[in-house]
Amino acid sequence: AQHRYAGLRDLPATDLSGSTVQLYMNAGLMADLPSLEGSGAEGVGLFRTELQFLTRTRVPRRGELAALYSHVLNNAHGKPVMFRTLDIGSDKVLPYMKPQDEPNPAMGWRAIRVGLDKRGVLRMQLQALIRAAVGRPLYVMFPFVTEMHEFEEAHRLLMEQIAREQRLGHPMPSDVRVGAMLETPALAFAPKKFFEMCDFISVGGNDLKQFFFAADRENERVRRRYDALNTSFICLLEQILQRCNEARVPVSFCGEDAGKPIEAVTFAALGFRRLSMRPASIGPVKHLIRRIDLTELRKVLDDVRALGEVNLRATVTDWLARQ
Ligand code: PEP
Ligand code: MG
Repeated sequence: AQHRYAGLRDLPATDLSGSTVQLYMNAGLMADLPSLEGSGAEGVGLFRTELQFLTRTRVPRRGELAALYSHVLNNAHGKPVMFRTLDIGSDKVLPYMKPQDEPNPAMGWRAIRVGLDKRGVLRMQLQALIRAAVGRPLYVMFPFVTEMHEFEEAHRLLMEQIAREQRLGHPMPSDVRVGAMLETPALAFAPKKFFEMCDFISVGGNDLKQFFFAADRENERVRRRYDALNTSFICLLEQILQRCNEARVPVSFCGEDAGKPIEAVTFAALGFRRLSMRPASIGPVKHLIRRIDLTELRKVLDDVRALGEVNLRATVTDWLARQ
């Protein structure tokens, strides 16, 4: 489907009122990188680092990871890549990790919680990232942050590794930006200081939705029951946007919903100016944004919400059909 939108590749996703939405892509493999050129993405808004850990029989070595991340950056040709540190939990068990017997792995010992409790692996991954980004900007984001202190701790760990590399006389990245993934409802209500500490925030809509609606993202029976256009979830997104704007921290939405055209234009109308999605979605989403007026859509959404609408899908779909 990519070629249908090939003509749009180098054009911005600017709507009729002149607002531009930056479209990034999600990735996790070296093989994804050619799509960066092909899709016209601004960069990689989410690089999932789990796969390199899942496909081995032992913890990858620092040198191996550094070489891999460096290769990713080389192939991004100067476009930013936001590396997310290991998001592993007892549902995604590493072959070399002692399995944890947890009743609710998705809400269990995963992601940054593991990283902060068992620091060796996170430290090693951060060192690999610092070494890979020598002479260029490094973007690191931490997954599944639930409260401010976890971000502070992880941030401190990264700064310690930077200081260590400096002490060793190693060359440095040209700049380091540190972000948090916002994927638990609790973090949306963190103190203002949290938002001010972040260089960027990325909303992980898949997990955020699962925890907001108490509906397992892996459970077919309940997964589709509530969606991102439910107005309660929209209120949560508005809260997040407001907090980020107050703190002047750039925010993106990087869950699967960012790549669905109806959802994408709704998020853009609410005020998201960065979306990160699978590469094949960039063309269709850009095509749609360029044809509509986001401020008009915003007014329509405000009106139906004032009337007590519970889900915006029908409204957005009807409105789009009239454009
Ligand atoms: C998310 O939760 O929305 C997200 C982007 O991360 P993952 O899908 O890898 O959990
Ligand atoms: Mg997630």
